[in-house]
Parts: sequence; C-alpha cells; structure tokens
Amino acid sequence: MELLEKRIQQDGIVKKGNVLKVDNFLNHQMDIALFNEMGKEFKRLFADRPVNKILTIEASGIGIACIVAQYFQVSVVFAKKAQSINIDGEVYSTKIESFTHKRVYDVIVSKKYLGPEDHILIIDDFLANGCAVNGLISLIESADAVVEGIGIAIEKAGQMGGKLLREKGYLVESLAVIESMDDKTGKIIFRHN
Ligand code: 5GP
Repeated sequence: MELLEKRIQQDGIVKKGNVLKVDNFLNHQMDIALFNEMGKEFKRLFADRPVNKILTIEASGIGIACIVAQYFQVSVVFAKKAQSINIDGEVYSTKIESFTHKRVYDVIVSKKYLGPEDHILIIDDFLANGCAVNGLISLIESADAVVEGIGIAIEKAGQMGGKLLREKGYLVESLAVIESMDDKTGKIIFRHN
C-alpha cells in the first residue's frame, strides 16, 4: 500500500535489533485518516471471506482493528495481557513472547466473546517472528472458531513469521512488507510481489 510505505519512509525510525519505530502515526499518535485507508484496503483484500469478528491483541492492534471493523461491520475482540493469577475457567489462554519487550505474557480472551460460530479476521500492527499471531490462532483454535485471514499493517520479511504462516496455509495480507532496514543509514527497502 503506497500511502503506508510513503509514511513509513517519511516518519519511521529504524532502531537497533530490527525494530521500526512508527510512534508518529501508528503506535503512539495514531493517524486516523491513514487508518481509514488501511481499513478500506483490508476490506478489499478479505472481501470474499465471511468474517463476523475481528481479533487483535492489546495494545497497538486495537486502534487499527476498530477502523477495520467499521468496514466489515463486525465487533472487535482484543486479547488481554493478564496476570496468571487471574486466569480461570472462563477464559481461553495462551502465552505470547513479546518481540519488543522480550518477555512472555499470558494472554486471555473470555469464552463469552469467542466461540465455534466465529469466523475471525486477525488484525495486528506488526508481523515479525509470528509469536503474537500464532498466539491469537491458538486462542481461536481453543474456541473451535475459524481463522478467515490475517491482516497486518507492517510485515518484516527478514523475520520468518509471515513465511511460516503462509506455508501453513493461512491467508496473510500485509499492507507494507519490509525487505530490509538499516539502523545505521535509516534506509528501508520494501518488498513488492
Ligand atoms: P511477533 O510476535 O510477530 O514476533 O511480533 C509482532 C508484535 O511485536 C507486534 O504485535 C508488535 O507489537 C511488536 N513488534 C514486532 N516488531 C516490531 C517493530 O519493528 N516495531 C514495533 N513498533 N513493534 C514491533
């Protein structure tokens, strides 16, 4: 998506450890006009999928997911990062290792909001190693719901998450795919198929 790539080139900051900072428009301040275009594009890409719910993970996925949901006219459920102590039989839970914070979270969704009748579109801001998305898939599987697709704002192709998910047969659509980035020069190269 050209608009998103341009914005990443303009405002993205490449940090050490293969981390891209996009706080200016996505992860802290949110550019809703841009989100709106992203929502439209996700709707186009998943138009033939019978999506009845969107699942994301707190916190950064929530803003994008809400805008996407307006195009699908469905609800958003976000997986919550929980203290293990609060996990009871009323929730599906899994563990997710955070790429940016380098720690493992227990992540939960209430059984009230995910069930066998659900056809889910997963939405998240970044796809790197795939821990977050795989955790969400495991919650969906626990609920006997169906993964209809995975929509990502920014995929980093140098990390294997997207490749492995596609090999497993999931429909993964990323609006911007970063082929490589260099924290010394700040140069970002996108992949176009
Ligand atoms: P994964 O679980 O696929 O390894 O990483 C995806 C998650 O880590 C996303 O939910 C996102 O919050 C965070 N993340 C991964 N890479 C980056 C990055 O380069 N920049 C930012 N801002 N977040 C990232």
